[in-house]
Amino acid sequence: MSKGFLLVLSGPSGSGKGTVSAALMEKNKEIKYSTSVTTRTPRPGEVNGENYFFATMEEFEKMVEKDELLEHAHVHTNYYGTPKEFVFNQINQGEIVLLEIDVQGALQVKDKYKEAVFIFLLPPSMDELLDRIRKRGTETEEDIETRFSNAFKELDFVGEYDYFVVNDSVDQAVKDIESIIAAEKLRVKRHSDIKKIMMKGRKDSFEHSKF
Ligand code: 5GP
Repeated sequence: MSKGFLLVLSGPSGSGKGTVSAALMEKNKEIKYSTSVTTRTPRPGEVNGENYFFATMEEFEKMVEKDELLEHAHVHTNYYGTPKEFVFNQINQGEIVLLEIDVQGALQVKDKYKEAVFIFLLPPSMDELLDRIRKRGTETEEDIETRFSNAFKELDFVGEYDYFVVNDSVDQAVKDIESIIAAEKLRVKRHSDIKKIMMKGRKDSFEHSKF
């Protein structure tokens, strides 16, 4: 069995991270989603504990103080963070854990946990990105501007990632991520027992037998 690992998915607001990761998990039930904590107000339809754990600034600060977050960042105008306990419990059980986080958070994870796999999701173009943010209609004009200018800044960090996936079609983006996962599962470093698997059913090691 492959060891568990972290899959970090970043990409600018409007790149379709939410849609792609939902479609990915729908097709691959074994992937565990890490629900983040945020100080942001819930959007219509968002459920506490599902989309996010919605917290007050005070609650968030307490989690930081107690070192309960694997990473945390100020994104756009709110705070977001990844609860540590869930992530490591799952990885230790051999699971693949998906983190949908911004670039600042991804860089913190890279510092602390090098074995993670970093994927940057891109829109087909920046014009298309702006169009998508506007069409979503959940942000004020000021928020849209912040998110769009942040998107430009985030693009500078694509070189820190292992893979990029262009979200032109959600189906294709999901297939690309599945290919990445399939390849990552075959990384030698994720298996401590390759020789043992090869020796399955044999009583002696080859060194001591006449084949
Ligand atoms: P939104 O408010 O649209 O749900 O998310 C805004 C941004 O925050 C997105 O880029 C999203 O990936 C990022 N984000 C969500 N959860 C986390 C987290 O736990 N840590 C970090 N660093 N970013 C997060």
